Amino acid sequence: MTQIETETKTETETETLGFQTEVKQLLHLMIHSLYSNKEIFLRELISNAADATDKLRFAALDDNTLYENDSDPVIRIGFDKEANTLTVMDTGIGMDRQEVIEHLGTIAKSGTTEFLQSLTGEQQKDSQLIGKFGVGFYSAFIVAEKVEVITRKAGDDKAQGVHWQSAGEGDFSITTMTKEHRGTEVVLHLKKAEAEFADGFRLRNLVRKYSDHISIPVIMTKEHYGDDADKKEPEDETVNSATALWARPRSEVKNEEYHEFYKHISHDFEDPLSWSHNRVEGKLEYTSLLYIPAKAPFDLWQREASRGLKLYIQRVFIMDEAEQFLPLYLRFIKGVVDSNDLSLNVSREILQKDPIIDSIRAALIKRVLDMLEKMAKKKPEQYTKFWQQFGQVMKEGPAEDFSNKEKIAKLLRFSSSIDDNTGQTHGLADYVERMKEDQKKIYYVVADSHNTAKNSPHLEIFRKKGLEVLLLSDRVDEWLMSHLMDFDGKSLQDVAKGSLDLDEVADEAEKKSQEEQVQEFAGLVERLQGVLSERVENVRVTHRLTDSPACLVVGEQDMGNQMRKLMEAAGQATPAAKPTFEINPTHPLVIKLNDEVDEDRFGDLSEILFDQANLAEGGKLDDPAAYVNRLNKLLLELSA
Ligand code: ADP
Ligand code: MG
Repeated sequence: MTQIETETKTETETETLGFQTEVKQLLHLMIHSLYSNKEIFLRELISNAADATDKLRFAALDDNTLYENDSDPVIRIGFDKEANTLTVMDTGIGMDRQEVIEHLGTIAKSGTTEFLQSLTGEQQKDSQLIGKFGVGFYSAFIVAEKVEVITRKAGDDKAQGVHWQSAGEGDFSITTMTKEHRGTEVVLHLKKAEAEFADGFRLRNLVRKYSDHISIPVIMTKEHYGDDADKKEPEDETVNSATALWARPRSEVKNEEYHEFYKHISHDFEDPLSWSHNRVEGKLEYTSLLYIPAKAPFDLWQREASRGLKLYIQRVFIMDEAEQFLPLYLRFIKGVVDSNDLSLNVSREILQKDPIIDSIRAALIKRVLDMLEKMAKKKPEQYTKFWQQFGQVMKEGPAEDFSNKEKIAKLLRFSSSIDDNTGQTHGLADYVERMKEDQKKIYYVVADSHNTAKNSPHLEIFRKKGLEVLLLSDRVDEWLMSHLMDFDGKSLQDVAKGSLDLDEVADEAEKKSQEEQVQEFAGLVERLQGVLSERVENVRVTHRLTDSPACLVVGEQDMGNQMRKLMEAAGQATPAAKPTFEINPTHPLVIKLNDEVDEDRFGDLSEILFDQANLAEGGKLDDPAAYVNRLNKLLLELSA
């Protein structure tokens, strides 16, 4: 049955609907990969219950009647050993029929379908994958053979309650029923083998372990043991500490608590990499708790992906994904900001204009950058992990956040010609430390892949001179460099751009012989200009090559290859700047070319050299067939 049909039916009717395909895939993945960690289902259900009470509190700011004369937020956990059931109940906002269908039958996150489809069969089996999604409500099916959800939206008529049930095998049924209290009750019919969870002692332990940080009381009925147990009145007890974790002093919060709180707010399944918890007093008063996740979520690159912080005002939850507090390049940060200065009826629109937000935002950015700087210094291995996950996003920083350019630049990491490490581990500050005494610039090369960068002909002279070159091959690199321009007073120089000025490292004897070579090959330069006039801006003798016969250089102000490809991919026409063709006067092929008297052969050889220079940089030939023909012609002459 499709979901569209539901709208035409009366709501009292029971209907059976199929889970969205993605849900089925995730359910399958989850049940198999999380079995060893099955107890986390309780954390997820309590996390949802807490979210629901948060949402109600916020909605009630506008409309007090939603409380239905009972404003006490509670989460209650009950169990029945005989029936082998476990219930998590909340007095939160609840759901109406349509919401139940949407939230408990589909995965709303945009891009999920595309992501799942892009995976190979091998990857789909990977239990790590689940960390990219978070687990959520469906984790109940790890331990339950059947799950019931009975819910009513706050403010709705009592007859508008909804009863959802499913055995997690592809479909669920939904019907309307009367529900006295607003909010949601989730009933797990435990699998026989999971009876351990219908136990007060076990449940209390789990609540304390995973949900202590929940700011709403999690209540269980006290159990009495012993001879007179039957005679005692049932008594409620609050199992968790029920205070907002971020409002507690840092020294009193254990690492495990920080971890669990992170999982609650981020819907992530793994522990965070690091966090920073701060209370600010003075002109502005707010508390922030910012986390760096250990893994990039699957939707990091999707425009509509959720991002931003959870905003609280004086402990009252206001909104999720308040993206005004952090720039895009820090979109991976998760956390909470709790302000004492904002008004409780703040809206997203107001947030966008409020100068208080600007101040908090500036301080939070600094906080994150400081946290990263400290990590880079004190825990370089952890920082490397961070960079592997989020380095590409950080590279957007200098363009987006000019005022923090220097700070961000210090955090950037690249590959370098000084080692074979394909990972990006070298910072600009380290490069500067290693610079030669007379060296004035920071050199880098940009290519499509690490190997192309590493083997670029442009690096030859730098190798010979023992000068370090940073190897850049991420899609954003050229764009990044165009915004960075300099670091620590030293300009950044693309070694494939402009005429190379290595005067600083050349000695007098070298300079003299170089000048002589320019004279000697002046004739060849002119002949080449004639043959290649359509395709090159200029031809000149170079000293940047040692092993290759020739290379291409773009003008200092021209767009590089990578940037042009980026723009073309974005559908923008790009001005085709002609490159300068540089020849190596010491290379046997060039010397041979200089002596070539047959004009036809000279033409063929010149074209081949030009095309090869293009290929060596990972470029594409305009006419690959012509190249192959010319080369074959030469090969035949060789064997003749
Ligand atoms: P997430 O919490 O990451 O959004 P879940 O799978 O845990 O994902 O829950 C899916 C959605 O179902 C929630 O976003 C919420 O809208 C709804 N939901 C789940 N549990 C409750 C509840 N106890 N009260 C109200 N809504 C709920
Ligand atoms: Mg959840």
